[in-house]
Amino acid sequence: MKKVVWEVRYLSVLPIFRYCKKCREKREFICSRQFRINAQRKSLDIWLIYKCSCCNTTWNAALYSRISPQSLRPEVLEAFHKNDEILAEHFAMSSDLLQKNGAEIGYPLYTINGENFSLNETVTLEIKSKYYSMIKVSSILRKKLHLSQKDYLKLINDGKVKSIPEADLHKCKLKNGIVLLFQADT
Ligand SMILES: [Zn+2]
Repeated sequence: MKKVVWEVRYLSVLPIFRYCKKCREKREFICSRQFRINAQRKSLDIWLIYKCSCCNTTWNAALYSRISPQSLRPEVLEAFHKNDEILAEHFAMSSDLLQKNGAEIGYPLYTINGENFSLNETVTLEIKSKYYSMIKVSSILRKKLHLSQKDYLKLINDGKVKSIPEADLHKCKLKNGIVLLFQADT
């Protein structure tokens, strides 16, 4: 059986929407990829700084609150001090953490790397994601395979696509990745 692997490549971090006190409206907040660190002898706070896309008002997403400075490895603490890009992206892609901070989260921009295939062949498709993602599997499949909503529903209803393990392909999210089986007509 043919095996195909797709990799979701993110072109942006998660868009954040919040009420901006200065604009008096809900705005998109842009990740500055900079951390704010407040270190005292016994307690450490770290935030990721966001800025209103219209007025630059800052909003800080709390990453660590009142933790012991010893609880982070020295190289990790150093990476926060240096505003390490990879570390910033890791937190800026963490929907769970940002939601806990009271942010409303949108979908990141993304492309899908990998080979296309015909719906007339039997294929195992693995979709990989570097980050836990709330993007719908249906959006990814429709985008990459150029399927209309109607075509996609027909594929599910005809039993020509299933996920392993089985999930509801009308609404399931990518999360850490998924394996799908496309069954050709016999
Ligand atoms: Zn604003």
